[in-house]
Amino acid sequence: MIHKKTSDKNSFQETISNSIDVAVALPVFKTYTYQIPHSLIPLAVIGKRVLVPFGRRTITGYIMGPPKLPVPKKIKLILDILDKKPLFPPSMIPFFKWISDYYLYPIGEVIRTALPGGLNIFDMPTLTLTEPGRRALRLKSETPMVSMILRHLLKGPCSLKNLHRHLKKEVPRAVIHNLEDSGWILKKRALKQGRTKPGVQNFVSLIRSDIPDDRFYDSRKQILNLIESHGDISLKELKSTLPGHTGYLKFLKDGGYIAITPKQVYRDPFGEPVSQDQPPELTQAQQHVITTVRRSIGKKYTTYLLAGVTGSGKTEVYMHLAAEVIKTGMSVLVLVPEIALISQTERRFRSRFGECVAVLHSGLSAGERYDQWLKIMDRKVSIVIGARSAIFSPLTHIGLIVVDEEHDASYKQDGGLRYNAKDLAVVRAKLNDCVAILGSATPSLQSTYNVYSGKFRQVSLTRRIRRMPMPKVDIVDLRESRDNRGVTKFITLRLQTAVRETLQRGDQILLFLNRRGFASFPICAACGESIRCKNCDITLTYHKRINAYKCHYCGFTIPATSPCPSCGSSRIKHIGLGTEKLEDWITSLFPEARVARMDADTTRRKGSILKILKDLKNHAIDILIGTQMVAKGHDFPGITLVGIVCADLSLSFPDFRAGERTFQLLAQVSGRAGRGTVPGRVIMQTYNPDHFSILAAMNHDYKTFYNNEIKFRKTLNYPPFSRIIQLKISGKDKEKSGNLARDLGDLCLKLTTDLKNEFQMVEVLGPVESPITRIAKYHRWQILLKTRNIRILQKFVRQLLSDNKNALNRPGIKLAVDVDPVFML
Ligand code: ADP
Ligand code: ZN
Ligand code: ZN
Repeated sequence: MIHKKTSDKNSFQETISNSIDVAVALPVFKTYTYQIPHSLIPLAVIGKRVLVPFGRRTITGYIMGPPKLPVPKKIKLILDILDKKPLFPPSMIPFFKWISDYYLYPIGEVIRTALPGGLNIFDMPTLTLTEPGRRALRLKSETPMVSMILRHLLKGPCSLKNLHRHLKKEVPRAVIHNLEDSGWILKKRALKQGRTKPGVQNFVSLIRSDIPDDRFYDSRKQILNLIESHGDISLKELKSTLPGHTGYLKFLKDGGYIAITPKQVYRDPFGEPVSQDQPPELTQAQQHVITTVRRSIGKKYTTYLLAGVTGSGKTEVYMHLAAEVIKTGMSVLVLVPEIALISQTERRFRSRFGECVAVLHSGLSAGERYDQWLKIMDRKVSIVIGARSAIFSPLTHIGLIVVDEEHDASYKQDGGLRYNAKDLAVVRAKLNDCVAILGSATPSLQSTYNVYSGKFRQVSLTRRIRRMPMPKVDIVDLRESRDNRGVTKFITLRLQTAVRETLQRGDQILLFLNRRGFASFPICAACGESIRCKNCDITLTYHKRINAYKCHYCGFTIPATSPCPSCGSSRIKHIGLGTEKLEDWITSLFPEARVARMDADTTRRKGSILKILKDLKNHAIDILIGTQMVAKGHDFPGITLVGIVCADLSLSFPDFRAGERTFQLLAQVSGRAGRGTVPGRVIMQTYNPDHFSILAAMNHDYKTFYNNEIKFRKTLNYPPFSRIIQLKISGKDKEKSGNLARDLGDLCLKLTTDLKNEFQMVEVLGPVESPITRIAKYHRWQILLKTRNIRILQKFVRQLLSDNKNALNRPGIKLAVDVDPVFML
């Protein structure tokens, strides 16, 4: 019996007796009770991984705490405890449970997703012949199969896989089980260690420096002096500081002058060294925000929405609050959208806070990630910065959680555990009784709605630092630009002139074209309206095979020969233009300019984004062409002109958030202009110059956008007025996937007629094929479930899945549940 005392403020003083509660890394929702062998009891601590028998398998599990009562009579023993130190603190257990419950995702898999990758242990059974087995072999009374196995094992232990190979036939599992039961063979799990281990480096330390004064004296003394002035130094660093001196180390070591010992190190994920910076004097507006937020810090849970225009000094506010929080001994978690942004925010935090910052993002290697994780666990850092998955970092004593650019869709994980890190930030803040700040120049509709409904509090920064004006936005109507070859159509005379003038001034230009996802959607060349579904008010998608436009929410279809529903014109265009083509055009129009492109294609290699950003900063690039990647919070002081080549591309996505995304994108991209000392200018080309999302972006007018968009959501009963769960069906077999989708749809409908009143309110939309009907050979279908209350929806889906477990379990067909879906394609 041990008492584990933790300093974790949410932990209970738990007592782990001889049994524990374990979450296994399998698709099951329950946790299980296991007994601990006496010798392992002192090692059993919450947050460590254990190896447990489960059915016929051996799997990894996580210690969750004392057993649930009453403890069952017959429980299995755990086989091993895998970690020396826990991987997560006890305070994270309620968080994991909340996630499992909310996202309808098995608890053990939640934890597995949360932990750094590469930790899991895989089992490979090995068979060994026992003494009774040897005796049995001598009696020669066995079936040929059995004696063949036993004879082979006589040569030594062998894995099941090799046994199959050697006997040139599949050995039935039952035979193996029988042999095991009769005690003739022993099945052992030879464990393949996960590939991630802490990094170890050799360090040199000084013992004494009274070396003999011989002909090697100077070189040897140099080494000793270095260690003396530097303190313990890694062998690697010593070798690079004093090249050619390694030959002397053996003498020094053998003579007892120095010691070389291995030490655990944290591999450094940072690039270049960053110089210290001094916090600027805060503006009055910043001061005001900080005073307001400060009142809640260390006291009670509150979420603040920091609405601050681009360049208004939000990051400075985060850093100031972070400094106050860590002064009180608490920690800070900062979430930023993507790797590109991390490098900037990371740099700014590093230059302010130095070594107490840990960074977690998907660009790290498994080893680097693991090192950062341990550093956080050991409380060696007080600030963690990271992308989405950093929400799981094992921080304790959290005082503040910052979510920068909170509107960004990259906080949502697409696949596996489909969580939204922004929402989880609020949940974690609540569970930890701390403050969350969600910041953005273009807050999500949901967050602003939460301010109005009293869930969040708003603080604002309405002006740019140094009172720099917001850039002036000129709208260019693409409908009046008639050139079917495309070049001068999309690079209009106005845009060309502006680019030329900017180049002549020696300033930089950003050209934005969002061509992610869809290439082909219908838009009327006469009136500029996109062709929409009459039931859903969502843009239809062109299907070449059936030559028709189709709605991906409800299945509504019209022939592609139909005239424009708004003006009757038959001049329907399919838009498709990409950044690569744009780059060609620009290069031929401005051969003297240095042009670079930043999109998913050009930034696949590690470090390539950083290189582009650096080139831009050093003015080695005149024109940067990019997708939504360039919209993300970068600070490019040299850019004075932003050209938005076609503002409508995202407007026409078959998604109820299309208007919101468009506004956010346009406002963010425009915000890249004129952040330095020269005022900025934006040329926004569009087919929809009267659309409220575009007008609002032009006027930097969030309020008008919100008021319009919220009406549309209300009328069509979309979030925030309803909640959505999407069922995603996919499989390689086209027919089978479709069948499951249809059967699931029927089961959903049946459930809505269930006598339980609350289920009758669930709207079932679909099943329909997903807008992208096939990805990587998988055929995709979806069903949208909609109602007011998320708890009802979750209950609905839980019941749907548990009542029809067998009917829905079909080989080769995947069924995923997406709570609060963001990616509707
Ligand atoms: P945001 O995050 O809102 O886009 P930043 O925090 O990046 O804004 O601030 C924009 C620029 O203004 C940055 O270069 C930053 O260093 C600078 N800045 C922020 N606050 C101040 C201040 N109080 N005084 C002077 N410069 C500031
Ligand atoms: Zn029309
Ligand atoms: Zn529809």
